[in-house]
Amino acid sequence: MMTTRSILAQAQQRQPVQHGEVWLVGAGPGDAELLTLKALRVLRQADVVVFDRLVSAEIMALVPTRALCIDVGKSRGCQRLAQENINQLLVELARSGQRVVRLKGGDPFIFGRGGEELDYLQLAGLICHVVPGITAATGCAAAVGLPLTYRDCAQSVRFVTGHVRDGEPQLDWPTLADAQQTLVFYMGLSHASRLCQRLIEHGLAARTPVAIIERGTQPEQRLLTATLGTLAELLARYQPQSPSLLIVGEVVRFCRHPALSVAGPAVSLMVKNHAAA
Ligand code: SAH
Repeated sequence: MMTTRSILAQAQQRQPVQHGEVWLVGAGPGDAELLTLKALRVLRQADVVVFDRLVSAEIMALVPTRALCIDVGKSRGCQRLAQENINQLLVELARSGQRVVRLKGGDPFIFGRGGEELDYLQLAGLICHVVPGITAATGCAAAVGLPLTYRDCAQSVRFVTGHVRDGEPQLDWPTLADAQQTLVFYMGLSHASRLCQRLIEHGLAARTPVAIIERGTQPEQRLLTATLGTLAELLARYQPQSPSLLIVGEVVRFCRHPALSVAGPAVSLMVKNHAAA
């Protein structure tokens, strides 16, 4: 059983540095080649790496074997370590003189609670550095050749949380239901049908194209396309799993992946990610 105390005891046996510092590092969407050079350098110098469920095994393989790796990953229904405990753990590890890397999927400041961790670390008086990462929206869109904006078609793109509290997504539907805008829902898979239904109710056409990108940039990547009106059927048939992104907007029609030339509405395609192979 992993406890904060047992982790600290292990970490303290290591060589301390002068003062505690924490690097909040974005690991990108999975493909290790999408790490920044800075992220790679910082990882190679780490004494302790505190990482999330979203960080791929391929990226963890780049961490030097001498570093202590702590998995604080959360999967639905099985929370390994609560956010307050993660915050506290980072502070105590840094105070014990370790070079601490807090490695998070995508970009630490996009739906990753990186802002909260930074607040906590700074309040505790620690020096913090932030290394950005490629967020799932841009990484996954690139991996399937889907332009998030396109002249005369989508003038803006919004990153939206699909996470639902108290049963109903609390979102600004009138401004989301804009045909000239691309919507990227993070954490929206479990409520994808409801999100699409609300968009139709607020004025988007049921024929608006939709894409689901499952495990984007990773070898098991899968792309599913449908429309707002047919998404429920597609979900039932192909049952995509987390992590998946839901992208809504006319830009889905411009998806340039070669396999998509045959795609119509409600088509599922297994798109092999050759770039990551
Ligand atoms: N900080 C992360 C997002 C964390 S929220 C970032 O910037 O990307 C977690 C959500 O991100 C998942 O539920 C999923 O919607 C999305 N996500 C992260 N990695 C993904 C991937 N490789 N493929 C598809 N979706 C991904």
